[in-house]
Amino acid sequence: MKALLNLIGKKPAMAEMVDYDPVIREIGDPDQITLPLEYTGQVRYTPIVTVGDRVRKGQAVATSRYGNTVIASISGMVSAITSVWTPQSVHAPAIVIDKDESPPLNPEELFTGPAPAGDSEAALLRLRAAGVAPPWALPGREWEEGKMIELPRIETVIITGVRQEITVLTSQLLADQQRDKAAAALTRIGTLLPGARICLTVPDTFKHWADAFFAGIAELHYLPPSYRGRIEREVVAKILGYRIPNRLSYRDHGVAVLDMEYLLALIDALDGKAALTHKCMTISGAGLPRAITVRFPLGSSLRHILNSQGLRFSDYTRSVIDGPMKGVAQFTDQTPITHYNGLHLISGDVAPFDPIAPCINCGRCTRACPVDIQVHLINRMVEFDQIEAARGLSPEACHECGLCAHVCPAQRPIVQLLHFCNRDMIHGERYTWTPGGIS
Ligand code: SF4
Ligand code: SF4
Repeated sequence: MKALLNLIGKKPAMAEMVDYDPVIREIGDPDQITLPLEYTGQVRYTPIVTVGDRVRKGQAVATSRYGNTVIASISGMVSAITSVWTPQSVHAPAIVIDKDESPPLNPEELFTGPAPAGDSEAALLRLRAAGVAPPWALPGREWEEGKMIELPRIETVIITGVRQEITVLTSQLLADQQRDKAAAALTRIGTLLPGARICLTVPDTFKHWADAFFAGIAELHYLPPSYRGRIEREVVAKILGYRIPNRLSYRDHGVAVLDMEYLLALIDALDGKAALTHKCMTISGAGLPRAITVRFPLGSSLRHILNSQGLRFSDYTRSVIDGPMKGVAQFTDQTPITHYNGLHLISGDVAPFDPIAPCINCGRCTRACPVDIQVHLINRMVEFDQIEAARGLSPEACHECGLCAHVCPAQRPIVQLLHFCNRDMIHGERYTWTPGGIS
């Protein structure tokens, strides 16, 4: 009955970005930061400090086996090496630093001037030491049995000047406000990876200036103001002309994808100006007439970020890290925030899924799906424990973009069932999926 009622009820509209403050607001240092040391499937760091050590902003406090580093984003004393829940609801080891008044390391203490031009190896060492290892150097999943797996050379670099979630404005604000630096950075990437195709995605609202400004430096791809038109894996597929299966990293296919903010941080490190200590994030949603974008020290708590703008966690029913479609709702404002781009606030009653509602076979989910999988069939097979049958329908092609769940009138937990199917029930493995065509 509830499903039928929902059918005639009004579905909440997909979040739209209507207005925003273009000024990026600088947030001061918190009294304490927490730096997680593990990013599942990507990289794990080992502390190189111990409890009681004094550190200065800009100093490396942890390193991976390949020399990538985590940088202290405030000066202070290491008060704990512990474990915390990250915004992705994963438990990870972490370093906690309590602020003191020590000055930050200045660029001269951190670097010996700009990295030598034309020396890719020196550039890579510099970037790793500055906490801004580029995606063509990620050591996590490519490391097996003590050695690096042979990887193809990078043929394509894609800079996302527009983020997937339409409520996240970090990349486009930076691309717009730091055009000269962005252009110089794109040129620099070209020299670091000679012969690679350099692509830049930007909002189609930038067309009136971006063509002229970045022409000859990067191949421009304009994206519409819709979530569906910005799904990263789909955008990458359109640029490449083929889909990279979700179970494989872009790196496996000689592709590097990074966002505009990371590109600019990378250039700051190469130029000997700064290590990676700060991050931008757009806050949108309930009670905010205009979305705001802030820049905060990495490892700040969600509470510190909200309070800096006069907002309180307790005023919202959901605080969703990253965005309304793919984000993760937080259960505490103590969560440390590092590499996340958005915060979407929701107030009022939220009951997004009805776990017992039956599928009414309306087909909306399959029509919405960008990878054309039989969403409703897979879901029902998983629901009734027919995993082997579900295998034949390519569930591993799912991006977990959430479009199917958004249009489902029965409000079924579609993405959760797919996630369960792909990640948990098959021993954490995704199966082989033959990439299909691209419309
Ligand atoms: S989340 Fe739904 S719409 Fe998105 S790719 Fe997966 S099945 Fe398709
Ligand atoms: S799961 Fe798909 S087919 Fe079933 S009710 Fe929801 S949208 Fe319709």
